[in-house]
Formats: sequence, C-alpha cells, structure tokens
Amino acid sequence: MTFEEIKKEEAEYLMPTYGRFPVALVEGKGAVAKDVDGKEYIDFTSGIGVNCLGYSDDGLVKAISEQAGKIQHMSNLYYNPLQVEVAKKLVELTGLSKVFFCNSGAEANECAIKVARKYAFEKYSGKRNKIITLVNSFHGRTVTTLAATGQDVFHNYFFPFTEGFEYAEANNIESLRNLIDDTVCAVFIELIQGEGGVNPLQKPFVWETAKICQDNDILLMIDEVQTGVARTGTFYCYEQYGVTPDIITTAKGLGGGLPFGACICSEKLSGVLSAGTHGTTFGGNPVACAASLEVLSRVATKEFLKEVSEKGAYIKEKLSSMPNVKEVRGLGMMIGIVLEKGEAKVLANRCVEKGLLILTAKTLLRLLPPLNISYEEIDKGLAILNEVLSEV
Ligand SMILES: *Cc1c(COP(=O)(O)O)cnc(C)c1O
Repeated sequence: MTFEEIKKEEAEYLMPTYGRFPVALVEGKGAVAKDVDGKEYIDFTSGIGVNCLGYSDDGLVKAISEQAGKIQHMSNLYYNPLQVEVAKKLVELTGLSKVFFCNSGAEANECAIKVARKYAFEKYSGKRNKIITLVNSFHGRTVTTLAATGQDVFHNYFFPFTEGFEYAEANNIESLRNLIDDTVCAVFIELIQGEGGVNPLQKPFVWETAKICQDNDILLMIDEVQTGVARTGTFYCYEQYGVTPDIITTAKGLGGGLPFGACICSEKLSGVLSAGTHGTTFGGNPVACAASLEVLSRVATKEFLKEVSEKGAYIKEKLSSMPNVKEVRGLGMMIGIVLEKGEAKVLANRCVEKGLLILTAKTLLRLLPPLNISYEEIDKGLAILNEVLSEV
C-alpha cells in the first residue's frame, strides 16, 4: 500500500481518535525510523518514551523472539518464572516491596488507585477514599484515570466520571494543604508533568507533600509512567527528589516497546490486593517480561544512567543557543522546549517533512529520544530542529 492508500483505508476502518502526523512507519533501527516510501527519520520520540533501546535493538529482538518460541502467553492461574524475575529486579531497584503487572500506564494507575482505596477502606472503616492529584496532570484514558487527570478538557462527554478526585495546584503547597482532611487516602503526582508541558515539580513542594502524607497516613503515589525506566537519568525520577513513595506506577519504557506496566508498592501495602480483588488476563505476559528483563539489564546500570544524563545535558545545552527557544526544561532525556513564537504542532510537522520525528506537549516541543541514541544521531536531529526553528 502507498501512504495515500493507507491514509484512505485508515479513515475507512479505524475510529478517528488520533490526529496523526502524515507518516506511515514500517521499520527502524536504533534512532532511525523508515516510512512506507523508504524515507528515513531521526527519532526524538521513542514512540512517546516507549522504545527506550530504539528500534529493533538486537538484544531486545533476541529476547522477544526466543521467548515467543518457548511460551507466548500463560494465564495468571499458573506460576510464571519470568514475572518473578522482573518483579525481583524492580523491588531491588526501588527498595519497595511488591509488584502487580499490567499492560499500560492507565492500568498501572488503576491498580494504584485500587490499592490506596482498599488500604484506607479497611483501616478507616470506609471513611477515607479521596485522592488528590495535580492541576495539569495526566494519568490515562480510562474513565477513572481521566477523573484523576487534573485537566478540565478531559472531563467531558463520558459522564459520570469516577468520584473522589480533587486537584491541587502544582508547586503550591497551600493549595494542597487546603484539600487535606480525614477523607483523603492518597496524593498522586507526576514529578515532571509530561503531557501537561514538561513541568518539573519543585523539590520543596515535593518534600512538603511527602511530609504531609507521612504525618497523616496519606499514601504518596508517584506516576512514573513517563519519567521512569532511566528516562530522567536515574532509574526512577523520585530518586532525584529524595522522597520515598508508597506506590509508584511504571509503563511506557518498561517493556522496551511491548505493552507492559507495573504498580509497585511498599511493605505496608504489600498484602492489600488479596486473591480475587484484582487481576488481568494479559498482565505479566511472558514475552513482555522477557523484553523487560533485557531492558532492565541494560538501562539500570550506573554507566548507562550517567550517559542518559550526559546526553540530556548535551541536548539541552545545544537547544539553549538555538533561535526561537525561550526556555529548555526537563531532566535527563525528557526535555521540553518553550518557544518564543510559532505553534509547536506546526513546527513538529515541519520537522517531519525534513526527516525528524519530534513530539509536542501543550504549547511546547517535547523530546523523548531513545536512551541509547548516538551523539551522531543527536547532532543530525538537532541540525534539522535548528533549521526549523530558524525559519519561524
Ligand atoms: C502515558 C502516560 C499515562 C498513560 O499510559 P497509557 O499506557 O497510555 O495508558 C499515564 N501517566 C503518565 C504520566 C503518562 O505519561
């Protein structure tokens, strides 16, 4: 099929849920993607922070294909040795206690919400169920995670939404404090709001939040779906904030491109979701687990994390001296560019024309390059970006 045929048939057969870039990708290697016409693109997106080892990484392909040749799925009614291996790694890396596997960020967040509510339901005789999230957050697309998402644009059409969410302003501790009472069971935050415009939370705000939570037996839950798995230069972003969450949720990069997510909880929550209270058909799929083991064995090393930080700093420095750049923010290789002028979506489309895949977040351009991208690929991509920014 040609691109035009694909576009026509997609309009005929798929629900029109996405405003897509005019590109049909068919293959890739490392940080280079190829479209149906053979045109190549430097990829600064990783499929929105998913392909952390780039396209068709040799180790990842081997892990996935070998596992597919052994057992591709088994029910969670049976013991799965690969789940044990991945969970053990995640527990060792986080210092937390127990893991539930699922297939996406939204599901990981649903699990966190269920853990928080059940913990508080049992401990406080059903009187505590409110969860505070932040204005401008993003937590997913299910009816409940939309309710958790602190943006009015997402609270439309699908009424009634799940009750029990209230929204505090990011970096405004008084706003959070005003919502705290004895009906609150958890505070649920992203440390860098990704979809919301690459907004890092300030450390004092996060420390104060952690203290309020600790003093009131309110759970601190961190959505690491986008910030996690080495993206920000530490394995999880909370390590850089020096706080200890009760729950973290993780997905995107966790399976290196296969659908995989997890909710990881602390010791005191480890028995909350007892047999029969939660579950999933696909979660913890052996092929996804095998991919994740490969990812974890590669990205969780000191040297790799150092490289992520260094490459991130390199990219940020280059961006800072480019035309039309008002501010560059983010951590590691999660980077947002505030523009002086021009519409981010228009600029992103121009980048695509010139052979660079790049994301937007609200009015910002956003970069989430594969974590193992080479400096040569970074330079190529940045050269295109510089050209596009110069033309505005
Ligand atoms: C992408 C994202 C989600 C949703 O993940 P899905 O896999 O699309 O369900 C949730 N939280 C954050 C912070 C995200 O970036």
